[in-house]
Amino acid sequence: MDARMCRRIAAAVLVLLGLMPSVAAAETRLKAVATFSILADLVAQVGGEQVSVTSLVGPDADAHGYSPTPGDARRVAEADLVVVNGLGFEGWIERLIKASGTKAPVIVASKGVKTIAGNHDHDDHGPDHGDHADPHAWQNVANAKLYVANIRDGLSAADPAHAALYAANASAYIQKLDALDAEIRATLQTIPAERRRIITTHDSFGYFSDAYGMRFLAPQGISTDSEAGPKDVARIIRQIRRDKVPAVFVESIADPRLMQQIARESGAKVGGRIYSDALSGPGGPAPGYLEMMRSNLQAFREALG
Ligand SMILES: [Zn+2]
Repeated sequence: MDARMCRRIAAAVLVLLGLMPSVAAAETRLKAVATFSILADLVAQVGGEQVSVTSLVGPDADAHGYSPTPGDARRVAEADLVVVNGLGFEGWIERLIKASGTKAPVIVASKGVKTIAGNHDHDDHGPDHGDHADPHAWQNVANAKLYVANIRDGLSAADPAHAALYAANASAYIQKLDALDAEIRATLQTIPAERRRIITTHDSFGYFSDAYGMRFLAPQGISTDSEAGPKDVARIIRQIRRDKVPAVFVESIADPRLMQQIARESGAKVGGRIYSDALSGPGGPAPGYLEMMRSNLQAFREALG
């Protein structure tokens, strides 16, 4: 018997004993664990009230080099469903799943994404970089729609009784994603093409760049695992001057000092804080995926428009 069935039976007993008004009111919701905050929001959008979701890597935190805790192993062990990005984003997840002993199904949210390679503009940092696919697929809204469809299918397989609810939630949210996509395109149209150039700390906007025609350069590769060396920084400063890149941006998960140094030495201005790999906390400007994309868009427009 799985953990969820146990909770259902316990809830039914409480109802029979008159201690709980209904089974629906009891904690019979599907327990999902997502690896990082952006994914957790997408799961919450599709799952609605039937799913309780927690994120292993929290808001404003970096998932690339994350070190799971014993508490994470416990949460994964108790989960009915584990949702991961895939594409090598969470290098630590396979070990964690194995160590936790969980039998829960694992949904790979990026399944079916047409991947792009990491930025090859710069020197590779080592054998782990270079040929890997860029994992930040959610930065293209079309891919976020694919994530939502994969999450919907995963939730429905784990909890067929609520498949119609998950389908309705997913299609309502996909409409919001379509509106967001149109808004991004319309807003970027107002920025002159030669100003659609941005520097970020790590190479996390490749899919955005690809989908919406904005050029991003970064001193760090597609992972934050390796630090940018003096050669990377010098190369970026040369590029900023040569291409007249208007602004550099500090990602919420990154140390701001590198971008401040690059801005100082290159003459580019420092744009607002942007969100690449993690949401902000609930009180911040990017508590959900839609807000995150709009907050970034506003920062780009203010710095470049
Ligand atoms: Zn990243």
